[in-house]
Amino acid sequence: MVFCSNCGKELNDDANFCTNCGTRTPKGVNEGVSIPWVETEIKRDLDNALQKASKALDEGVRVARESLKEVAVEIDKELKSAKEKVRERSQPAYCAVCGQENTRSAKYCTKCGNKL
Ligand SMILES: [Zn+2]
Ligand SMILES: [Zn+2]
Repeated sequence: MVFCSNCGKELNDDANFCTNCGTRTPKGVNEGVSIPWVETEIKRDLDNALQKASKALDEGVRVARESLKEVAVEIDKELKSAKEKVRERSQPAYCAVCGQENTRSAKYCTKCGNKL
């Protein structure tokens, strides 16, 4: 006859667990009998942690993709406006009076002196 180390209940000699409180008996410990609910809890915690990590990873990837997209759109905008500026600058200004082709930066027509 053995007694439970936790609650003191009388147990059979071949008992691995206390029938009253579920504590492992020295025999159960010696034989390495695992506690089912502890294993289940550890497994559940692990699963939860894995799931959380996986979700965080997914979220991270999604956020990264979103910001990459935003950055790409910004770069595209900048490129377009830069191209626009280059095009504007390279386009000559024509004098309204004589039709002379003047540079954009010219304030007066190079040919007739008209204010551009
Ligand atoms: Zn007990
Ligand atoms: Zn002119």
